Amino acid sequence: MKIVIIGASFGGVYCALEARRLYPDAEIMIIEKNEQFAFLPNGLLLYLQGVYENLADATFISKETLMKNNIQLRLQEIFLSCDGQEKTLQTDCGTYMYDKLVLATGSTQQSKVIELQEEEIYHYKTYQAAKYLLPKIEEAQEITLIGAGQAGMEAASVFIELGKKVHLFEAMDYPLFKYFDQDFLTPFLAAIEKIPQLDLRLNQRIAQIDQEELILTTVNVHPTETMSDVLATHSDLTIQTNDFLETSQKDIFAVGDLIQIPFTLTNEKIYLPQINHAVRSGMTAAANLVKPTKKFRGGLRMIGTKIFGWYLASVGLLESEAFLYPKKLMIKTTVIPASTTSKETLYCKLIIERKTQRLLGVQLLSQANCLAIIERCGWVIQQEMTIEALLEQDFFFQSQYSSTLAFLNDLFVGCDTDEI
Ligand SMILES: Cc1cc2nc3c(=O)[nH]c(=O)nc-3n(C[C@H](O)[C@H](O)[C@H](O)COP(=O)(O)OP(=O)(O)OC[C@H]3O[C@@H](n4cnc5c(N)ncnc54)[C@H](O)[C@@H]3O)c2cc1C
Repeated sequence: MKIVIIGASFGGVYCALEARRLYPDAEIMIIEKNEQFAFLPNGLLLYLQGVYENLADATFISKETLMKNNIQLRLQEIFLSCDGQEKTLQTDCGTYMYDKLVLATGSTQQSKVIELQEEEIYHYKTYQAAKYLLPKIEEAQEITLIGAGQAGMEAASVFIELGKKVHLFEAMDYPLFKYFDQDFLTPFLAAIEKIPQLDLRLNQRIAQIDQEELILTTVNVHPTETMSDVLATHSDLTIQTNDFLETSQKDIFAVGDLIQIPFTLTNEKIYLPQINHAVRSGMTAAANLVKPTKKFRGGLRMIGTKIFGWYLASVGLLESEAFLYPKKLMIKTTVIPASTTSKETLYCKLIIERKTQRLLGVQLLSQANCLAIIERCGWVIQQEMTIEALLEQDFFFQSQYSSTLAFLNDLFVGCDTDEI
């Protein structure tokens, strides 16, 4: 069996590794248009923070690992089109036959809405773009960012740490709106208002850019090569797939940021471009290459990050999305110490199904590192656990490092409750 995968990032690479595990005799080839592969989307920021010595080191897997797994990698080769009947594909270097084709060409941050100067680069998701922008960023005293989502806020935080002034434009009335309810972010928003180098402009929709200063678009990503002439697509140009990630053409699969996935709590398909979803969809597609065996389970939209010295984490349903959920909800909010020995505060907001007490969503905010808790919360939501069942689980306790039982009890017993 000859498996060809287009795109050597999270979706494509994990699809290839899983395919190697499942089909030891298969010929597996990945085609990638860039000179560098597996580049971390925030690699530029990590380099600027001193995490890596070289920008090119900001990758999640090495070429050697792929070689060891007998996966062929063809870099600097651009996929152009495919013919699902003939089972052939074209690149700028030639034509290939395939038995199974996996599209993992991901997404871009290049805005479709803002009028941009064509010759300029505005985003740093790829190695090439990051390499191009790096000296400009290092030189700039002031940087303008468009989009105050996770990427824009993380970039603003790093640039200000480096002593730059940041102008940050956002179309919505508060930052990080996809992951947090506005009221929950009050302490964080009050704190960042006082940062003199941050010029945050809300409710501002940018339509056009004049390149007089350094401008970066940190807007929402959207799918790249969608091949809507060959494959059925949704109105947002994501590729349509069935539950097993096969497209409208037999033996052609699509994964990662190219597709919509089920949001576990409402079961509606939405665009959730995240690394974990790309990795898991890649692996699921690999499992279904020969016959449909494994449905893709979708995701919960989990994030965890550190911005301006605050740790922010969120998973599952928000209060602002309550209208999407068919049953009545209860909102619990509490403010507790981050751990038994910590003087830092942990702000928590829980979204719970009123009748069953099933946990549906969690938001956390603290100046202490609370990020590990969100994974446990995600697991609880995934398992459809009630709060009662959660309180019966075993967790480690170490007074300095864990918030465990004290945390969970405090969270569910001593907090303010609203019914919606
Ligand atoms: C600035 C930024 C920060 C982010 N931070 C996070 C984070 O902290 N956590 C998180 O979960 N998500 C984050 N994301 C989202 C995350 O980057 C994506 O969800 C993830 O990269 C998707 O992986 P993918 O494999 O589907 O596609 P991509 O990572 O987009 O990769 C697609 C690959 O296909 C290649 N390709 C495209 N077209 C062709 C072609 N025609 N021929 C050959 N190759 C092609 C591309 O060069 C690329 O290597 C961030 C995104 C951005 C922009």
